[in-house]
Amino acid sequence: MLASRGLVNCISKRYISVSSSRLLKFTEQHDELRSTVRKIVEKDINPFVDQWEKEGMFDGHKLFKTLGSAGLLGLCRDPKYGGQGLDYSFSVAMYEEFGYHINAAGPLTGIGVQADMAQPALARFASEELKQTFLAPTISGDFVACLGVSEPEGGSDVAAIKTTAKREGDDLIINGGKMWITNGYQADWMCLLANTSQGSPHKNKSLICVPLNLPGVHRAKKIAKMGNLSSDTAQIFFDNVRVPAKNIIGEEGMGFIYQMIQFADERLVVGSTSTASAQRAINDTIEYCRQRKTFGQPLIDNQHIHFKLAELQCEVEAVKALLYLAADKFIEGEDVTYLASVIKLKGGRMLREVADGCLQFWGGMGYSDDVLISRLYRDTRVISIAGGADEIMLGIVCKIMGILPKAKKDKST
Ligand SMILES: Cc1cc2nc3c(=O)[nH]c(=O)nc-3n(C[C@H](O)[C@H](O)[C@H](O)COP(=O)(O)OP(=O)(O)OC[C@H]3O[C@@H](n4cnc5c(N)ncnc54)[C@H](O)[C@@H]3O)c2cc1C
Repeated sequence: MLASRGLVNCISKRYISVSSSRLLKFTEQHDELRSTVRKIVEKDINPFVDQWEKEGMFDGHKLFKTLGSAGLLGLCRDPKYGGQGLDYSFSVAMYEEFGYHINAAGPLTGIGVQADMAQPALARFASEELKQTFLAPTISGDFVACLGVSEPEGGSDVAAIKTTAKREGDDLIINGGKMWITNGYQADWMCLLANTSQGSPHKNKSLICVPLNLPGVHRAKKIAKMGNLSSDTAQIFFDNVRVPAKNIIGEEGMGFIYQMIQFADERLVVGSTSTASAQRAINDTIEYCRQRKTFGQPLIDNQHIHFKLAELQCEVEAVKALLYLAADKFIEGEDVTYLASVIKLKGGRMLREVADGCLQFWGGMGYSDDVLISRLYRDTRVISIAGGADEIMLGIVCKIMGILPKAKKDKST
């Protein structure tokens, strides 16, 4: 009896901590934003997506200018730099709409990097001069931005990156290389993580704004991929590239910490886009299964199929609930590292499961290039790898749970 009362108390305490948060409430203002996003997707993205997929990239300068003019590249940023000054619930609404309606993940990935992976540290920690020079034109869509963390030797162990930025007078001389850089083939600048000194790998790094038109910047190749075809992914080398030391974002030596904070923004975006893309897959599959008949009845009337779709729907709801909780805490200014890592892990796995489960019910059509479900299936695989692989998310969760072996603690991101 006592034991069960203890359990009830424990559950109700947890329940209270969840229910005491405001949780996202969408208003007419959010509906207006969603409508703006849908119109842009219908007019400026979807009609061109198949062509972009074939060409291996979209024109970032053109698309981002359109999005920037509509205020979509800096929803939560300071109006002083062209942002809309809105709270994070609007960002959730925007990515849900993009995630549901864009007919490929490629443009979505590019938009995410531009608005929420290359910008956050710059917006939070940089000098006024850097914000005017790099943040404002990124928000307006005049500059295409990219984020340079991963390297050819590895991306999971961020502390072990090799690229250096050594002081020479008032300048930094950058040498090294970055790999898997989304938007990198066409970007005007990179938010680069480099070692600015020797010593502890968590205190020797800085984030630096690096214009990519400088002598010594080599865009070695556009990487051919299995999915996300319309998103350009570059390998970039730096050979004695000189930038002013004042291009360091915030405090020198704080780059590793800033990047870990910046990763939380990226991982929350995965929550909005993965739930929305999964919902689209489920809805499209329901529609298909209503029309397609086998053994004299619509596919959807098979209990196995409608139960499976309901099960997948439950997976979407679970990640969505976590996302809204995290977004709410984010708005309140709380540290969401833990929840963002859980969302990245579960969102990626959920979307892979949904894409695979739905594709099955399309039969042979699901394996053709003629339907979107096969593209979604290819596009989703990367979510459990990029921006911190599943195992890295599990490492963060272990660290917060206090069960990561001591020797590994320092290495975990
Ligand atoms: C399409 C795409 C776009 C990308 N965009 C960007 C970008 O814009 N900017 C950027 O900086 N990077 C980008 N990345 C890189 C991405 O973040 C890395 O691929 C990712 O962090 C994994 O690094 P890695 O590929 O070097 O794999 P590795 O570090 O070599 O790891 C390989 C695998 O080993 C496993 N693993 C690694 N460490 C551990 C561990 N400690 N315990 C257990 N298992 C482990 C994981 O499963 C991991 O997938 C992108 C990648 C892709 C594919």
